Amino acid sequence: MSHVDDVQTRALVLQTFPLKEQDKRFVLFSWTHGKIFGRAKGIRKLTSKLSTSLEFFTESELYLKPTRFSSEYWILQAKLISSYPELKCNLKLISSLQLIAEILMQVLPENDASIQTYQLVLKAVETLKTWGTYYQEIISSFLMHFLKQSGYSLELQYCVVCQGKNKHNQYFLDPMYGGLVGTTCEVTIKSKIVFSLQISEYLKSMQKMNIHQVHILKINLKLRYQILRVLLTYLELTIEKKLKMTEYFLNICQLP
Ligand SMILES: [Zn+2]
Repeated sequence: MSHVDDVQTRALVLQTFPLKEQDKRFVLFSWTHGKIFGRAKGIRKLTSKLSTSLEFFTESELYLKPTRFSSEYWILQAKLISSYPELKCNLKLISSLQLIAEILMQVLPENDASIQTYQLVLKAVETLKTWGTYYQEIISSFLMHFLKQSGYSLELQYCVVCQGKNKHNQYFLDPMYGGLVGTTCEVTIKSKIVFSLQISEYLKSMQKMNIHQVHILKINLKLRYQILRVLLTYLELTIEKKLKMTEYFLNICQLP
């Protein structure tokens, strides 16, 4: 058995599923154990004290007990830390949270603490609260930092095939090689992403910046969208999975 002790940890709710008549199952991102699965009994009863602490993208302090038959936990108690209500009444911001949640669910391994990523998520969410109109840059910045923390490099300083700096006039972004590939050094066709040097410059700036600073880049509307599309495509090709939220989120971005 991989875990036998009771656990007390703060955690974010990434997804919820109804279970039996009155129970629910949860995908959680916990401080101490990374991505884990939890179950709560009777939570769909009107009298349940747990329900408000276990809504989508709510952070709570949880008391967990391992279940007997699987690698899941029973959620025994939950004390609300924040439910981020200010982000949930705005379509663009709640979509941002849904996108972050799906990325965490698809990429994070189970039962593997990643405190750095937890802190990054909290930072992204706090920044969305303060600088919500810049949600596209905030998500792009989150993606840049998340890729790095997850071990998926994104080399933007030189061509990863010939190692040449400023050698090419045009580049692709190639997830198989982990960064820029000059068009004349192009080797794989499968995963290349066409993008402009202007986008590359913004991505380089984002790599050096904290999430809460990205609003100062003053990126125009069209480029914000293009940068986001490039990064989401890069992520999907890197993890070799399609995210359900990608197209939906990119459509939301184009709403006035
Ligand atoms: Zn090259």
